Amino acid sequence: MINIAIDGPAGAGKSTIARKIAAEMGYVYVDTGAIYRSIAYACNFAGIEAAFPERVKAYIEPLDIDLEYIDGIQHVYVNGEDVSDRIRTPEVSAMVSAYAALPCVRDRLLGFQRDIAKRQSVVMDGRDIGTVVLPDADVKIFLTASPEVRAKRRFDELCSKGESPVYEEILAAVNARDKADSTRETAPLKQADDAILLDTSGLDIDAAVKAAVDIIEKAR
Ligand code: C5P
Repeated sequence: MINIAIDGPAGAGKSTIARKIAAEMGYVYVDTGAIYRSIAYACNFAGIEAAFPERVKAYIEPLDIDLEYIDGIQHVYVNGEDVSDRIRTPEVSAMVSAYAALPCVRDRLLGFQRDIAKRQSVVMDGRDIGTVVLPDADVKIFLTASPEVRAKRRFDELCSKGESPVYEEILAAVNARDKADSTRETAPLKQADDAILLDTSGLDIDAAVKAAVDIIEKAR
């Protein structure tokens, strides 16, 4: 069993790179951000704000959260309902960090994520995979890029979908989420001591995947 941990801020290319590496190596790709998003989505839908951790705790304790892979694509289910598309809105992106900062949310998801990695070889991406979830991962990569480059990638992605985004607004949202994720007390976004830093600012996706595969091959 091999576990590869990929952490880093939003827009560094984690999910694209992790998915490609997993496909290349025949491992399962686990997008842990989607799990946090599904919790935020479910709480918000139920009208339970992150400002009331006791209510969040009581609500999420019995929630049935499940991952399934359909044609190699990860789907997230909450109480049997596929929420994979609904968790990708800017509204969920804006509120997820507040829920993800709550210790009760992180406690609820820790064992769930570890169990997945115990059962099979995984490439798992997130914010605290190398530091907290899989501290004994075989390879750890901390993927980053400048906030401007990450905001520009998101801007281009939205333009290609026919939307008319405002670059400055995206940059502000990227910076706000980075700040919330890296300054929280429980399991903040940070590079593990034994993680290898990969800055994708000047790299396209193919070059970034190649650099990540090189790191994995060298590390193993
Ligand atoms: O990766 P993605 O942008 O989908 O993650 C959404 C949010 O979930 C992050 O901004 C962060 O607040 C939270 N998250 C986390 N720990 C992880 C993965 C995601 O706190 N391992």
